[in-house]
Amino acid sequence: MSPVRLKLLRRLKRNLPGEIFLQPAILAKYAGDKWFATHQPDAVALPRSARSVSKILKFADKNNIPVTPRGAGHGYVGGCVPVCGGLALSTERMNKILEINPDDFIAVVQPAVNTAAFQAAVEKLGCFYPPDPASRANNSLGGNIATNAGGPRCLKYGVTRDYVLGLEVVLTNGDIVRLGGRTHKNKTGFDLHRLFAGSEGLLGVITGATLKLLPLPTFRANLAVGFDSMYAAVRALQSVFAAGFLPCAAELADQFTLAAAAKRTKSKRLLGCQAHLIIELDGQENSVRGEIATVEKIIRRQKPLFVERGFGNKQCEAVWQIRREFSYALRDTGLTKLNQDIVVPRGRLEDLFKFAATLQKKHGLQLACFGHAGDGNIHTNVMVDFTQPGAEKRAEAMLDDLFRWVLSVKGAITGEHGIGLAKKRWWPLAVSKEVQALHRTVKRALDPKGILNPGKFV
Ligand SMILES: Cc1cc2nc3c(=O)[nH]c(=O)nc-3n(C[C@H](O)[C@H](O)[C@H](O)COP(=O)(O)OP(=O)(O)OC[C@H]3O[C@@H](n4cnc5c(N)ncnc54)[C@H](O)[C@@H]3O)c2cc1C
Repeated sequence: MSPVRLKLLRRLKRNLPGEIFLQPAILAKYAGDKWFATHQPDAVALPRSARSVSKILKFADKNNIPVTPRGAGHGYVGGCVPVCGGLALSTERMNKILEINPDDFIAVVQPAVNTAAFQAAVEKLGCFYPPDPASRANNSLGGNIATNAGGPRCLKYGVTRDYVLGLEVVLTNGDIVRLGGRTHKNKTGFDLHRLFAGSEGLLGVITGATLKLLPLPTFRANLAVGFDSMYAAVRALQSVFAAGFLPCAAELADQFTLAAAAKRTKSKRLLGCQAHLIIELDGQENSVRGEIATVEKIIRRQKPLFVERGFGNKQCEAVWQIRREFSYALRDTGLTKLNQDIVVPRGRLEDLFKFAATLQKKHGLQLACFGHAGDGNIHTNVMVDFTQPGAEKRAEAMLDDLFRWVLSVKGAITGEHGIGLAKKRWWPLAVSKEVQALHRTVKRALDPKGILNPGKFV
């Protein structure tokens, strides 16, 4: 860090007592997320209020100091890595649920509220906040908004963006703006609050959110089904949609993932499977029980190896517990798991699995696929042994092929994790020159000096 910047940061520290930190041990904690890259910031800001955030941004903007916003640091793409140094601005002290209103079906939160804790709190009052990223026990609502996080239930209920009614955002000039509102419908001006959903900390710092809630479904049921081919599993899912059902989740896993999970969970059933499908329905008990029976009949036409049924929260959770083991099971293999979250149009799922098989042959690396099949959003994990010579190059080449193919079928290179640093290389492939220019125009309008989260994709 230059002596000039150090002097400036010391001045900021004096102006905001107890909110700016320069100790190396603290800096190290804010260098990375759950991806590989790390870079230490020059200082860490732990503001207690939007007013403090405003002071920090105004000061940083005036003095050209980079600011990288951060939620819980559980991102998967290096989004909160302060690659240009400067300030890592963590919202972690702004962690209160300010209001849950079951009459208006809204909640007002500070950005660092933990997603799972928030869901538990609203459910106590008979309300429901559906977005369910697998990381919800650890991440923040602010991070979910900034990455537009998704999860299994997003098939029926939509992603985080669909629940953001209003936002409080601090702009780089220090303005604190309140966008949107607390009504479920609102057409007053541009949909500006949505601009910040998925903005990955590049346009402003989210310091508060008003979130939409739904009535809590009173019952759920699911089916966990094993198949002897991926083709049969995909056909089963397509038949469920064709019969007019919209499950709240539909999750698929491939043979490599299942073999790893079988080893970890000691399940003999998973071991014999080429594909595994979980389908869940929710709603009122009578209708869910009737509908799940019909769904089972539809699925049985594809001659599954087994069908397990879960009724009610406890049994359904037991099925999901196995699904949650998939990621850990892949780690147990000892290989490094390069997790991608590509999306293909729903009708191209089978093609994706076929293409994955050809990629594996071509590059001699395993591709473990599982995820949100209903959305076409499959976690494609390149499994690499980095001790092998040339492994890194082969993995990169495999990812190039994968992303090119995904784009060729009009899919997307990321469905929920974002671009961050991990996907930066493929950003120019994924969007046209004109769209890149439009991103730059928006960025310049809100952050003319480019101090917010520099070094990322815009
Ligand atoms: C095991 C595991 C499972 C995961 N499963 C899922 C999943 O199922 N679905 C899914 O969508 N993601 C998943 N993720 C990715 C990750 O958890 C999400 O991206 C999550 O939303 C990150 O939240 P965070 O609070 O940790 O954000 P951080 O990692 O701290 O930040 C993420 C990005 O948001 C920006 N940001 C954070 N807070 C703010 C703010 N207040 N204002 C402006 N910008 C901000 C940061 O600059 C950064 O670009 C998973 C990650 C892990 C490690």
